[in-house]
Amino acid sequence: MSMKRSFIREILEAIDEETISFAGGLPSEKLFPHEDLKIATLKALENPKVYQYTISNGISELREQIAQRYTNEGFPTTKDNILITTGSQQAMYILAKFFENKDITIEEPSYLGAMNIFRLNYLKMQGVKLENDGVNIEQFENSFKNTKLTYLIPDFQNPSATTYSEEKRDAISEIVKKYNGILIEDSPYSELYFEKKSKYISASLPNNSFHLGSFSKTLVPSLRIGWIRADEEKIKSLMIIKESIDLHSCGVSQYILAEYLKDEAKYEKHLQEIRDDYKAKAIYFSEQLKNILPEFKHQTPKGGMFLYGTFGDNIDTFALVQECLKKKVVYVPGNQFYIDKIPNGEIRFNYTHSSFEQIEKGLKLIKSCL
Ligand code: PMP
Repeated sequence: MSMKRSFIREILEAIDEETISFAGGLPSEKLFPHEDLKIATLKALENPKVYQYTISNGISELREQIAQRYTNEGFPTTKDNILITTGSQQAMYILAKFFENKDITIEEPSYLGAMNIFRLNYLKMQGVKLENDGVNIEQFENSFKNTKLTYLIPDFQNPSATTYSEEKRDAISEIVKKYNGILIEDSPYSELYFEKKSKYISASLPNNSFHLGSFSKTLVPSLRIGWIRADEEKIKSLMIIKESIDLHSCGVSQYILAEYLKDEAKYEKHLQEIRDDYKAKAIYFSEQLKNILPEFKHQTPKGGMFLYGTFGDNIDTFALVQECLKKKVVYVPGNQFYIDKIPNGEIRFNYTHSSFEQIEKGLKLIKSCL
């Protein structure tokens, strides 16, 4: 196999406690609803059925709760439209198996973890340039008319933090309909908006889309629960793949989540706490960048967990990160998010996991390496 490991996972294993890491996409631990999850866990564990094998598409209660959230947002959904997966990472794996060997249109830059899954399943990726308000529509149509399959992250994209404008969402939807193709819409960050939530593109393509969600960024990643929303026929086909991978996602995790989600107001309050905390961090990170590294061009994020930008073509951020590692600070160089990985001046910073002090110190350390 010619595939290499993910740069991010390798870095996470290699760094020590002292290193300031802007690399991993780690949520802030201090925002985990530890007490409420403990209560939900104890409650869930009282029921002996929690320990038994369960059905492959996921427990009915949790699918119902997820479906209800879509319906409340104007995207009518029932529990039969939902397949529970082991993180949305597995959702992508299942879909890549489903579309094995096909051509696929992706954003460039795009999520490294998805690109690795596509490589593993022999999908041939065609990159389309991502602009400030979404992919370049002309390039997108040119690619999509051949691939008829696309993977997009329209809300607070990983890595670029880009959020699609309403116009581009509509344009994508029209193109998918025109060629009767398929959209895979990956939305782990859509709840982490600082101002407003955008409409899912999938809502206008109920039979031509797979919509992916996850509790990793909104609650905790360790439960490893995500899902796919699609029409019933597609869900049935995906279940065949899901069954042969792991029979079903962890039942204990699913029952804990179903117990926690019973109190909708509590979940909403928790989401608002994350949004407020991340917004303050995003603004601080951006201000510090302007002070310490003014040559780094970027936009202040409007949601999500990442800040993306560039030093321009004169700096190779892949070479720079090797120096930074020696000084105990790390980020992900932008070339990792491109199909051909040619070095460039771009960087993805995760701003949610570090303290205010670490942000300032880390950026000063990067400055000293330039
Ligand atoms: N999609 C995107 C865009 C991501 O950034 C991530 C996590 N970094 C995932 C999917 C996978 O998340 P999980 O498996 O934890 O749900």
